[in-house]
Order: sequence, then structure tokens, then C-alpha cells
Amino acid sequence: MPLPRLVVLGCGFGGYSLLRALRRGAIETTLVSPRNHFLFTPLLPSATVGTVELRSILEPVRPRLSHVHFLEAAAERVDWELRQVLCRSAVTGEEFPLAYDLLVVAVGAQVADYGVPGVGEHALVLKEIGDARAIRRRVLEQMAAAEVPGLDPDELRRRLTFLVCGGGPTGVEIAGELADLIDDELRRAYPELVGQVRVVLVEALERLLSGFDEALARYTREHFLREGIEVRLGAKVEAIEARRVLLAGGEAVPCGLIVWAGGNAPMPLVRSLGIELVAGRIPVDETLRVSGREGVWALGDCAAVGDPPLPATAQMAQQQGKYLGRALARLLRGRPVAPFTAHSFGMLAYIGGGRALADLPHVKWSGRTAWLFWRSVYLTRLVSFPNKVKVLFDWAKAAVFGRDLSRF
Ligand code: FAD
Repeated sequence: MPLPRLVVLGCGFGGYSLLRALRRGAIETTLVSPRNHFLFTPLLPSATVGTVELRSILEPVRPRLSHVHFLEAAAERVDWELRQVLCRSAVTGEEFPLAYDLLVVAVGAQVADYGVPGVGEHALVLKEIGDARAIRRRVLEQMAAAEVPGLDPDELRRRLTFLVCGGGPTGVEIAGELADLIDDELRRAYPELVGQVRVVLVEALERLLSGFDEALARYTREHFLREGIEVRLGAKVEAIEARRVLLAGGEAVPCGLIVWAGGNAPMPLVRSLGIELVAGRIPVDETLRVSGREGVWALGDCAAVGDPPLPATAQMAQQQGKYLGRALARLLRGRPVAPFTAHSFGMLAYIGGGRALADLPHVKWSGRTAWLFWRSVYLTRLVSFPNKVKVLFDWAKAAVFGRDLSRF
């Protein structure tokens, strides 16, 4: 009898964990993903400034998931009647259908622009590995641009203003990492300019890190003050233009780098499914099944698991992926499946200057020891042994020799 055909859409924390948990041979599995690697996002802000190298946080799909047939393509639509996924090659743009018996949607989310004009055109986001490279390049371009002789002082100030929109964990980590880069490498490489470089963090709410403990958010604010990061709270971004950010109330902040660290919005595929979304996510039952669709599951950032939905985090997506891998194996053997239960291990964030936050279920703590804890947790969570070694070497290399400032 032919094996059932399982199609998994997406190779992030959810899809990758699922495929690693699925036993070889029990099922004919095809993975569809436009990128050919798994990305360890918690270290992406560090990769942006070169504390870790880009390739150290990527796991190439093919060698790691050799039991899976892999297609480098994006799913564009699902034909529920024909039980087919319409895909487009990520390389050639060709379209092709892919039949499934069982389907898992794990395509994650995209960065929400909240309808603010100019985000897509003028701001950089941090979601994929190429984004980290683009931000680093823009910082170095602005440093080079600021060296042009005879610049008007206002234009010099604009070029050296790096503005981050969004005071959630991603925005805070980017601001902290940028401050590290300025303090360590740019201070040595551009001694005349570095005093004029500004990092500005803009947040619409009246506090940073709204998902974190209040005292940790306060600590971050005070730490940023000491580090020279300007924090603007209650400052709503109205529009983004090529060379400035417009805030509510009419203030314009001219800047050379704009990073948009918004929340999550549904992927185009998720919007196209014809399913009524909950908070922009696909509603699923306690075994991650999509109701009303036979043999279809969803997990990770694109799925609303529980009520209220679990947070869109790597640890939740990973737990769901592992659970579903084991659950599918049991289903195929005709065994019953227990409901998914989530375990929250808390939240961590790096805030620069060798300081981090640890918002754990029973302990809230910050500072240098929290930073060592942050590093040890992510070192152990990095998926493969080679990447653990690479990241360890990257940290040592950055501490001893500094970060590389080559622009490419
Ligand atoms: P993703 O990991 O986003 O994976 C989605 C996959 O789907 C990707 O492979 C993508 O290429 C693929 N895909 C997209 N569209 C299609 C399509 N049409 N067809 C097929 N495949 C598609 N979480 C934490 O818990 N701790 C942290 O410290 C942390 N730090 C973060 C830092 C940054 C900069 C970012 C951006 C996120 C961070 N997160 C963190 C959040 C975490 O990355 C996400 O919650 C997690 O990646 C969600 O996993 P996922 O599998 O649902 O989606």
C-alpha cells in the first residue's frame, strides 16, 4: 500500500521541529519552503552587528532533514477540493501543484506594518538572514556617508541617526546590539564621528517590553539611558519617508537608518485559505487540527492555539512541532493522540552592554548574570552541534578581535 503523503509548509521552529520528530519511513513527507535553511531567530539581532556570523545560526535543510523530500518553493494557495497545494518555485518562479493526504501549515507570520505608510518602501525589518545583512550594510554605509567632506551639520546628524521603531523584544535587542557595535568597533574605527552617532528607540506605548515584567522594563529604560540610547515612549509613528520618520503631533526625526520592529501579521497564504482567522492566526483545536478541514493541521506563529492564543514565540512553535511529529506517528499507527499542552519557560532578551533580562515563571532577573544565563540557554537551544561550536567561537572571536566592519 502506498504511504500517505504528508506535505509540510514552512521550515521554521514549528515545521523543522515536526520533521525532526517524525520517524523515517512511516510516511512520504514533502517539505515546501522558499528558504532552504532553518533560521535560529533568537540570535538574529546579534548576527545583525556581527557578534555572531550569519551562517552560524542557519541549519541547511537538506543534510539535516535527509529523510524528507524538499521543494524550495512558496505555497501560494490550497485547493481544498482537489487536496492540492499550488506552489511557486523560489528560484525559477514556475508554478506547480502538489497533492497531499495530510497537510501541515507552519508558514509563520510577516512583520505587521499597522497601516503606517512607507514601512515597506523605506524601513528595514529583521525577520530573515538577509535582513540582518541589510541592516549591517546600511549602518556601515551611513558611517561612510558621514565622512564625506564639507557636509552640512544637519545632514551629518541625519546620516548618523539610527532609529528603531518598536519597543518590543526585537526592537529592544536591535537597539542594544547597535549600541554595542557603536561602543566597541565604531568608536575605534571612527573616533571623530562616534560621538555624534545616535540610536533612537521609538515606542507608541508608555513603556518598553509590554510582555515583560514591569521592573525589567524599567531596568531596560535606565540601562539604555546609561548607554546613550534615546528612548521615546508614547511616540506613535505616523509615516515613514526616505530620510525621516514622522511622529504623531507633527515631529519629524531625520535619520539615516530606519528599522521597523512591528508585531506579527498573517502571511498572504494564511489570508488566502478562506478560513476565518482569530487574531490573524488559523484557529486549531487542542490537537492542532484545523476544524472543518480533514487531515489539516496548523502550528507556530500562524496558528491560534488555545484561548487566548499562546504567544507567537520560538519555544511555543518548537513544542507544537515536536508534539505534532509524535502525534502524527501515533495517528498513522492507529493510536489515540493526547491534547497538546504548552510549557512556558519564560522569556529572555539581550539589552546590550553585556546585560540581559530573564523573565522566568518564578524569577525575574537582569544584568550580567542574566546575560550569561541568556548565552548559555541559547547555546544549548541552537539545534546542531556544529552551530553550537561556531557560535561559541564567534563570541570568543568578537570579544578578542572585535566585529568585522567590512561592507558587502
Ligand atoms: P518561522 O520560524 O517564521 O518559520 C516559517 C517558515 O515558513 C519559514 O521557513 C518560511 O520560509 C516558511 N514560509 C513562509 N511562507 C511560506 C509559504 N508561502 N510556503 C511555504 N513556506 C513558507 N522567539 C522566542 O521564543 N525567543 C526569542 O528570543 C525570539 N527572538 C526573535 C528575534 C527575531 C529577530 C524574530 C524575527 C523573532 C524572534 N522570536 C523569538 C520569534 C520566533 O522566531 C517565532 O515565534 C518562531 O520563528 C515561529 O516559528 P514558526 O515555525 O511558526 O515560523
